[in-house]
Amino acid sequence: MKRATILLTLLVIGTSAFAQIKDPKATEVWDPVPKKVTPGATNSAPPSDAIVLFGGSNLNEWASVNDKGAAKWDVANNIMTVKPGTGNIMTNRKFGDIQLHIEWRSPLVVESEGQGRGNSGVFLQGRYEVQVLDSYESRTYSNGQAGAIYKQSIPLVNATRPHDQWETYDIIYSAPVFNEDGIKVKSAYITVIHNGVLIQNHQEILGTTEYIGLPKNDAHGKASIILQDHSNTTSFRNIWVREL
Ligand code: MG
Repeated sequence: MKRATILLTLLVIGTSAFAQIKDPKATEVWDPVPKKVTPGATNSAPPSDAIVLFGGSNLNEWASVNDKGAAKWDVANNIMTVKPGTGNIMTNRKFGDIQLHIEWRSPLVVESEGQGRGNSGVFLQGRYEVQVLDSYESRTYSNGQAGAIYKQSIPLVNATRPHDQWETYDIIYSAPVFNEDGIKVKSAYITVIHNGVLIQNHQEILGTTEYIGLPKNDAHGKASIILQDHSNTTSFRNIWVREL
């Protein structure tokens, strides 16, 4: 720090409590010690404390939303792909606050435009959708494009890649809090990084994702992550989560 800056800082601090502290140790905090986590080999690989929800070989962590039986999407070449008509799939585990890494790719054959073009979705706690869509060069309503909190929050930028390339979402999600009367006392918040680009910045989630009408706020506890079957053959790979 330059001498002038130090003098200015001391002037600003003046007679505040900080000015009384002489020992540098007084402002050191040694506990708690953060738990050691071994990062993945790459920034997209699961770190040592992650729960792998899809590692490439099977859908053991997932179930069909329709009949609660085995998830019926296709698995091949280390990727899972929506099998249109089999319905949404849900994690067997239930989650509250999480960090989620998920990779997705739009259908290799372009099927349609707008909302019909590689539409899927990541539903946090089964209710709050981060849109998955081929939005590289396909216009739709802005709060329904890739990375939107569907019909609630437009992504800050469009970081979508061409449809035959893999995309990543890194999501930090804080669950809403309800009191004992079932009234929401704290909203859910979400941060989304799309292909390394911040697109939702600690964004408040207003309530459930609704296709028609306004968000709802019925009380709930921990809940599954749901991936959407929107009749498009969107693929996913390398899905892992860290509970926060
Ligand atoms: Mg969707």
